[in-house]
Amino acid sequence: MKLVCSNDRFEYDTYLLVKEFWPKEEIGRQAAGSDALFADEIKAGEEAVLSCRYDNCRTVIAYTPDEAMQYEFPIEEGLSEKEYRNAHMRNLYRGLCAITGQKLPWGNLTGVRPVKPARQMILSGASEEEVLDFYKKTRFVSNEKSSLALEIAKREAGILQRLDPVKGYSLYIGIPFCPTRCLYCSFLSNPIAKWQNRVVEYLSCIEKELAFTKKAFAGRKIDTIYIGGGTPTALSEDELQVLMNLIDGFLSDEDRKNLLEFTVEAGRPDSITAGKLRILKKAGVGRISVNPQTMNEETLKRIGRAHSVEETVKAFYLAREEGFENINMDLILGLPGEGIREVEHTLSEIEKLAPDSLTVHSLAIKRSALMKDWLKEQGNGGKQAWEDGSAKEGKGLLAGHDLMTDMAAAAYASAARLGLNPYYLYRQKNIAGNLENVGFAREDLYGIYNILMMEEVQSIVALGAGTVSKRVLSEKEISRCDTAKDIGLYMDGIDEMIRRKEELFCR
Ligand code: SF4
Repeated sequence: MKLVCSNDRFEYDTYLLVKEFWPKEEIGRQAAGSDALFADEIKAGEEAVLSCRYDNCRTVIAYTPDEAMQYEFPIEEGLSEKEYRNAHMRNLYRGLCAITGQKLPWGNLTGVRPVKPARQMILSGASEEEVLDFYKKTRFVSNEKSSLALEIAKREAGILQRLDPVKGYSLYIGIPFCPTRCLYCSFLSNPIAKWQNRVVEYLSCIEKELAFTKKAFAGRKIDTIYIGGGTPTALSEDELQVLMNLIDGFLSDEDRKNLLEFTVEAGRPDSITAGKLRILKKAGVGRISVNPQTMNEETLKRIGRAHSVEETVKAFYLAREEGFENINMDLILGLPGEGIREVEHTLSEIEKLAPDSLTVHSLAIKRSALMKDWLKEQGNGGKQAWEDGSAKEGKGLLAGHDLMTDMAAAAYASAARLGLNPYYLYRQKNIAGNLENVGFAREDLYGIYNILMMEEVQSIVALGAGTVSKRVLSEKEISRCDTAKDIGLYMDGIDEMIRRKEELFCR
């Protein structure tokens, strides 16, 4: 499909919203600023064209696959620049709903942080009613998602009150190795066997970065530590011990006393041993993840997880035996071949384990995921299933919108049965069913780092390959720097990686 937009200032926002309506479509964008075509100028039978014209007094949305459709909406006079843009974006949404006969659960909110406006409104004194009105009336968000955003925003605001956004900071360490690469993965993840002889060198780079951080953040309060990746527990027991020793050397007694949260993404059950759990526990790690993604054996094989359901259950109980009282489990809805039956099975198995938090993801297939090519290899099945929802009985490869909505409802109900509350939420590009990812947890066991990451209210120093550090001066003033994604380039250029952080944090 070709997208033609008359106003180059609105072109990207237009593209993002259009993409939400046609998530699987390749959308070609005609050079911004060119005259928008109108339905009667588009010849029937040619490539589908969506034309958006933004005039001073009206928005005109025209579309033709084989028969022309055109919708026109007025724009009030005397609007500020921001109001003018918002009015056009509301009209664009109305036009796209009329063309597709579809409404989106998150209305015309396209970013990855749909809760942020609610939290900011609460902080500036808006009533609950005003927040809900904003979501429903100005952004066309469904009643259910508006209430979810409000509930999470209120919880987040309460949790974040305990932190000092300016003096406090959090530390992230990326360990970009995994036992094998999962089919859907878009993270920085490398099979550890390939890098085995350079892991020690990698850890010595982390040591250098920690030394820099200790100096640069002297006198500041560290609130949370999160070790992710990858799978940090893909490291051997000895390597994990080295990493924990480095962190121990980094923290002062004062830091240890004040630290609110120390998380390690144990992630893959096939990487967890009693020895590693003991090392983590002794180092002060309080929160870990043991991620099933699904409790269906066939799906695990299909998505290349290389572990069994039994290993997940065993790893979970092992963590309990080693004294972990805050265990998260990650789930993905919409995995290939899964329908409501498979998800309900997964949920009932998870309920037996009763984790302390549950993070429910909707599948999002990114460009870097092996699944992209895998779907192509499956013939037309993958694409077809998205469009006609033929995964309904778990037969198709990927779930359609209605099925995703049903599976999410089942997962959210399961979290409620477990006594877990929603506490953070984010969206991704190409997310199945136009839904969201939601973290649920027991009262007082909310993952603080997850909230900080999403709401961008505190500086995060991120160490390791392929990580992004953020310096938050205020919610409107955020600067970032990254490190090389390629592990070899990261290690070879470690001085440059540190220099970038120095530039970011010590200016
Ligand atoms: S365990 Fe996580 S980080 Fe590792 S390959 Fe699988 S999805 Fe990616």
